[in-house]
Amino acid sequence: MEILVQKGDILEVATDLLVVGAYESELLHDPFTERLNELLGGKMTKMAKAQEFEAKLGQTLIFAAPDKMDMEYVMVVGLGELKSSVVEAARLASGTAVQMAKKMGLRKIAIEFFGEDHEEFSAKNTAEAMTEALLLADYQFNVYKKRKGVSIKEVIIVAEDGRDARSAEKGIEKGRICVDGTTVARDLVNTPGQDMTPTRLAEAAEEISRISGETVKVEIFDRAQVEKMGMGAYLAVAQGADSELKFIHLTYTPTVDYKKTVAVVGKGVTFDSGGLSLKPGSSMETMKCDMAGAATVLGLFTALGRLQPKVAVHGIIAACENMPSGRAIRPGDIVKSANGKTIEILNTDAEGRLTLADALHYAQKFEPDYLVDLATLTGAIVVGLGEEIAGVFSNDNVLSNKLVKAGEETGEDMCALPLHSAYKKLIQSEVADIQNTSTSRYGGSITAALFLSEFINSSQKWAHIDIAGPAFAERPMNSYTGLGGTGFGVRTLIRWIEEL
Ligand SMILES: [Zn+2]
Repeated sequence: MEILVQKGDILEVATDLLVVGAYESELLHDPFTERLNELLGGKMTKMAKAQEFEAKLGQTLIFAAPDKMDMEYVMVVGLGELKSSVVEAARLASGTAVQMAKKMGLRKIAIEFFGEDHEEFSAKNTAEAMTEALLLADYQFNVYKKRKGVSIKEVIIVAEDGRDARSAEKGIEKGRICVDGTTVARDLVNTPGQDMTPTRLAEAAEEISRISGETVKVEIFDRAQVEKMGMGAYLAVAQGADSELKFIHLTYTPTVDYKKTVAVVGKGVTFDSGGLSLKPGSSMETMKCDMAGAATVLGLFTALGRLQPKVAVHGIIAACENMPSGRAIRPGDIVKSANGKTIEILNTDAEGRLTLADALHYAQKFEPDYLVDLATLTGAIVVGLGEEIAGVFSNDNVLSNKLVKAGEETGEDMCALPLHSAYKKLIQSEVADIQNTSTSRYGGSITAALFLSEFINSSQKWAHIDIAGPAFAERPMNSYTGLGGTGFGVRTLIRWIEEL
């Protein structure tokens, strides 16, 4: 999809579908819709009334363009209330434009450059947000399909005279890089477990390093090396599978002086059957997405090489498959993690925290200023927050606030939740230092986070993001996030890292 900014009168652009926005209170006070209505001899107001179109967020009103205009159709898209987030409204409207054009078999769109140049939603930010949604909405995963869908060919963002077109172009460029990273993550998640093995994940990391040039390096460790590092918890999860485990360590090093180092750990269970604590069939259907945290890390690194932020980043993935077999770990088995703590494994389906325990321990060797992990860790988080919000657990409020805020700005919703230490009693084991499941059926995402905290050094600033809800959309989330892998977290992490 080609995206360009063009200055001029939006009603004179040659295109297939013209998209203008309107605020709820201003349908007929908006300069474009007012003129459109005049050109249509007042028909637009009539149609709006008949269709109960009130310019509520996401509502659409479509009609054939007046003869005098050089376009086929016009769509008015609701931006909701004036006081709502302009950037997110711009995203949602842009996504709707793409969806509608595809449905109508149209390949070219001209869209109003939403908002005004304003500190909060500068031309760059708005153009970046619009580009993100335009490209994300156009995403399709058709590797395994004979019938490929059509994509949008061209989008012209039409800017009024006063707008800063040069900044908008920068925003488009940035938005494209963020989406390229998100797309990498989406593709990795959508690829079925048969093909998305730990080895394939490692190859993807190598490929990212290769195309990123000197700044992104990767190291892959095999089973023998992982054994040498004493990662007994991670090995326990991997031992039931025929596929070989791969421990992946990516590093991005800026070419200029830098002050901060961060480490991002992603859960990389390429398929989670539950192990001997086998999941019911229906719960297993989407378990190819259990490496979504890893996919987010790889998506992030795709972007880092191109954005070159002044922060060093480690990306760490303990990739393996969780399968039942004669070699699989049994409930009741006790293993020793890399930091020396012993773990009683009571449920082999609580495996993510085992792989993360060793990955988090490894990450702290590099003394990062901040350590963040992303994991499709618990069903409990989805029960609590629903399918679209991630939960953030952190031992540092500043860090957690910054992550939540970065998420707000990118339209990836996250909510800070308590790392309530009194619940540690629920994961105490009779026979080992700790156990991998809680003795209570409640608060499962908190006890999972507390389990991870057992592997975090006391001085380490750390946040755990449970993305089990939004990492994989079982129904479309919004106009630019359709079914399947969402790449959740890539854009938020980029924003957070750039602002460190
Ligand atoms: Zn599991």
